[in-house]
Amino acid sequence: MTTHTPTEVLSRVFGYDTFRGDQAQIIDTVVDGGDALVLMPTGGGKSLCYQIPSLVRPGTGIVISPLIALMQDQVDALGALGVRAAFLNSTQSAQERRDVETAYVAGELDLLYLAPERLSAPSTLSLLDRGTIALFAIDEAHCVSSWGHDFRPDYLALAVLGERWPAVPRIALTATATEATRADIVTRLGLGRASTFVSSFDRPNIEYRIVSKDNPRNQLLELLRTEHAGDSGIVYCLSRKSVEETAQFLTRNGIPALAYHAGMDSRTRAEHQSRFLREPGLVITATIAFGMGIDKPDVRFVAHLDLPKSVEGYYQETGRAGRDGNPATAWLAYGLQDVVQQRKMAATSEGDAAHKRRLGQNLDAMLALCETVECRRTQLLAYFGQPGSEACGNCDTCTAPPETWDGTVAAQKFLSAIVRLAQRRQRYGAGHVIDILLGKSNARIESLDHTSLTVFGIGTDLDANQWRGVVRQLLAQRLLTVGDDGYGTLELTEESSTVLRGEREVRLRHEVAAAATRRSRSSQKAKVDDVPLDAAGEALFEQLRAWRGETAREAGLPAYVVFHDATLRQIASTRPTSRDQLAGISGLGAAKLEKYGDALLAITA
Ligand code: ADP
Ligand code: ZN
Repeated sequence: MTTHTPTEVLSRVFGYDTFRGDQAQIIDTVVDGGDALVLMPTGGGKSLCYQIPSLVRPGTGIVISPLIALMQDQVDALGALGVRAAFLNSTQSAQERRDVETAYVAGELDLLYLAPERLSAPSTLSLLDRGTIALFAIDEAHCVSSWGHDFRPDYLALAVLGERWPAVPRIALTATATEATRADIVTRLGLGRASTFVSSFDRPNIEYRIVSKDNPRNQLLELLRTEHAGDSGIVYCLSRKSVEETAQFLTRNGIPALAYHAGMDSRTRAEHQSRFLREPGLVITATIAFGMGIDKPDVRFVAHLDLPKSVEGYYQETGRAGRDGNPATAWLAYGLQDVVQQRKMAATSEGDAAHKRRLGQNLDAMLALCETVECRRTQLLAYFGQPGSEACGNCDTCTAPPETWDGTVAAQKFLSAIVRLAQRRQRYGAGHVIDILLGKSNARIESLDHTSLTVFGIGTDLDANQWRGVVRQLLAQRLLTVGDDGYGTLELTEESSTVLRGEREVRLRHEVAAAATRRSRSSQKAKVDDVPLDAAGEALFEQLRAWRGETAREAGLPAYVVFHDATLRQIASTRPTSRDQLAGISGLGAAKLEKYGDALLAITA
């Protein structure tokens, strides 16, 4: 495939008529032999940025990707477009690998996917020398940074690419990188001369919602029943046990769900991932290990039942929702226990002081996002270096602005209790201190003689739940901290004294009842690119979907690899009667027209 312009390839192979955002400039840069660093949110269209130059330039585009489990799907999807793609990884037999190598050397591949660890093997490097390399694409480039949230030591070896093949253009891509991570990518991959392209990180179709935890599984069930019945989605939990239990809980309650975590055998894991990609309406419950690079376009919600460790991780995970541009929900439930647990993990983690400080800073940023009274999106974008955007109207703080109150006195009461206990050389967790403030007399309090503390019973103006909110926010604002004894006991911080001395006001959010944060659908500003259909159009759309389901099953492909919903909707609304008319539809390239044109016309004409 030579002597075609990028625009021709876009239309002929992919069936799209215009480039999005920076795609055209990025592609031109790489086609001309320049290096590029691309930051684009998930769903922004990163893949075309290296796929098209690979088709336009002579030789094979080498794609470095850590996502071994997805290579087969990626290669299948390209195959469906008529692109000659293959991969080399540890899941193949020696014979399969040899076949791919032969095809590469013979110049019969447009794209070759490689896992990063293969580049440490001299045999891989000499293999690459025997063919023609069109470019190197380094996907998930943030993995090279130890600042980032998925550091992979294998990525450090990628520095060799620029040294060994200085004339081959390199394009590094990521959906998530703060300034620090970005700088790391440039230094560690030697991309000093790369043009940098930073797209807006905004994902306007995702509604962000963060609620305070109060029986989180039931809250989740309520959300799925009322707003996401029959939708595909991902639920993240911190522990494997919780992943398993949540999948069982949802399934028991009529929502089919599968678990995915590192403790499962790899066959079951692969099977669950594959079913999630192929079957409609399936929920996957997973530890954070799941979903990197999952390009399923119609994930309608991403839910977190535990607090993510960093904003970068949170944004990456929530970014897996709504890649097709249709409305999607990012929902997170978090509570006092999350904060205590994560502060504890940061305090007792392995590693040097700098590492602990970094964990603490990551957590601070995440907590600031959770406790903010301002637009969540504005705060997220500012975190990723794009400050100053207007309130979005499509997050919970915009649709139901939280009220704040002067929590100075409450904070002083709580901190005083910690001081009194410290005077007795005692430290306790939040629950016990709250009991003291509420004046509860139980066996434990009696036996410890805590009824004699001057703070005993001085906090009855708030209930236990409100107190938990106070403590959570004091921890978030670092006016209180968790000790490193591993028991989750609370301690004062340097700033605590300013509160105790009355030198500082403490503003707190009111605990918003979960129901009040429900989406008001009318206020959604999401980009809905659904074509409106009349009744006949809807019927035709359903017919087309049924055909697609059948076709995908026969070919063993996910339905969206055959066609996206948006393409089918457009067909249903325009009712093409000829191949020419079909060819004008977005998402219908030459290969798909060839393969499916007649079948489609049999339905529409
Ligand atoms: P990313 O890798 O950045 O998450 P993808 O490359 O998977 O995003 O693209 C997301 C979706 O957008 C894909 O379904 C892709 O086919 C579609 N897409 C990308 N570029 C265009 C374009 N120029 N016109 C129409 N659709 C596009
Ligand atoms: Zn907002």
